[in-house]
Amino acid sequence: APLILWFRRDLRLADHPMLTAAVATGRSLIPVFILDPETEATGAAARWRLGLSVDDFAQRIAGLGSRLVLRRGPAGDVLDRLIAETGAAGVMWSRLYDPASRARDGAVKAALKARGLIAESHPGHVLFEPWTVETGQGGFYRVYTPFWKAVKDRAAGAALPPPAALRPPTAWPASDRLQDWHLGRDMHRGAAVVAQHQAVGEVAARARLDRFLAQSVGDYREARDFPAREATSRLSENLTYGEISPRLIWHAGMRAHHEGAAGAEHFLKELVWRDFAWHLMYHTPHIATANWREDWSRFPWRDDNPDAERWRRGMTGEPFVDAALREMYVTGTMHNRARMIVASYLTKHLLTHWKVGLDWFAQCLTDWDPASNAMGWQWVAGSGPDAAPYFRIFNPASQAEKFDPDGQYRRRYIAEMSRTPGPEALAYFDAVPISWGLDPAARYPRPVVDLAQGRARALAAYARRDGVD
Ligand code: FAD
Repeated sequence: APLILWFRRDLRLADHPMLTAAVATGRSLIPVFILDPETEATGAAARWRLGLSVDDFAQRIAGLGSRLVLRRGPAGDVLDRLIAETGAAGVMWSRLYDPASRARDGAVKAALKARGLIAESHPGHVLFEPWTVETGQGGFYRVYTPFWKAVKDRAAGAALPPPAALRPPTAWPASDRLQDWHLGRDMHRGAAVVAQHQAVGEVAARARLDRFLAQSVGDYREARDFPAREATSRLSENLTYGEISPRLIWHAGMRAHHEGAAGAEHFLKELVWRDFAWHLMYHTPHIATANWREDWSRFPWRDDNPDAERWRRGMTGEPFVDAALREMYVTGTMHNRARMIVASYLTKHLLTHWKVGLDWFAQCLTDWDPASNAMGWQWVAGSGPDAAPYFRIFNPASQAEKFDPDGQYRRRYIAEMSRTPGPEALAYFDAVPISWGLDPAARYPRPVVDLAQGRARALAAYARRDGVD
């Protein structure tokens, strides 16, 4: 009997433990991607970008003499139907660690096992399974540096080669057509604009890694904070769909480190932040929905408000902040330093709840990752584990002087600041909804809040906070 391979965020062939295990069974294999309610619930940009990934992966699977079957509906029901249609012996998949996926996968596993069918989950989405990294007392880590120390010398296991072929079943079950899923339907902003900035699939991801290690890793540590430079790997986009395995990146980074590349260890440290985010999400799933530290529940954040709307539109009048929000809108990604600055500005200068920002990032990012996004927002807001103290408020103007000294980043994304705006700055006006009424020839807006006043208001709220330590 064949085996069903249920692909989700593991859309690659190389270093894929589930795929290697499945091939080793000698069975015929039926690769499947299911558009289920959990997947449909992801933000507009991530859902659109997922479609590009599935399309690319289907072609790679076809190159192995196999097919990627597409089905839509609740995963448990779809898998039951496929088992009935194909007489499959069971299902294999790669594990995910967010609460919705864990609930879904747990129910699927229990139902399959109750029927005596194969139900096997495998690692691969993170370097180290979240429950295998334990403190001396047997608990989980809340602070990054000891987490890093606990894993940095750990054996990650050798990366697995891609399979040469996948044995096809005698008959193929029917498949949906990808274009009928309309995964880009909520991508109101110009998908064509954003598409130019994507590097889709396993081959593109490997090329990114190779380019980064050949050209950028040496001065990564110093250059990574300057948003106008091409100094980071941009692999977050590929990691989130599993187009490349973190272990493959880990080994490549280790090799560079041992060969003496200056920035390699720092790069590995950043990669492990992603694992730390999943570690936190696994052990404290509320990190995505509520203040991680409960004593923050009475902090007077504002809910959504007109200032936050100006923030979303990249119209706060604070150039570094607006450049970053427009970068996200045009490219689907945002530089890490810029993410910290816009998050600080929203939660402090605009005194707005981090969830408002987290939701906007989830709508706009093509590298949206539920764990890193939640950890990032709570870290900046001050409500998270190992967080920056609330009273440490980034000043976006001095951050701009420091990290964008010649204004290149701001000019690249803000048309109003330049007499001859470049393509990215103009693309923003093509991408935004007409209802926003934006005009590249209009005057750049005045600041929505005076920086000193915004800072004072945030500090006053912090001082008045009730129950916050
Ligand atoms: P590089 O500098 O090349 O780093 C290599 C890899 O390390 C990245 O691809 C990423 O997987 C990991 N990494 C680096 N920095 C971090 C970090 N601070 N936290 C977790 N992992 C990290 N990252 C996402 O992938 N998805 C998100 O939705 C996301 N939301 C964020 C929200 C906020 C408010 C903040 C402050 C950060 C967020 N990050 C998120 C983390 C970080 O900004 C991105 O991972 C990074 O900018 C990706 O660029 P890169 O691939 O060039 O990184």
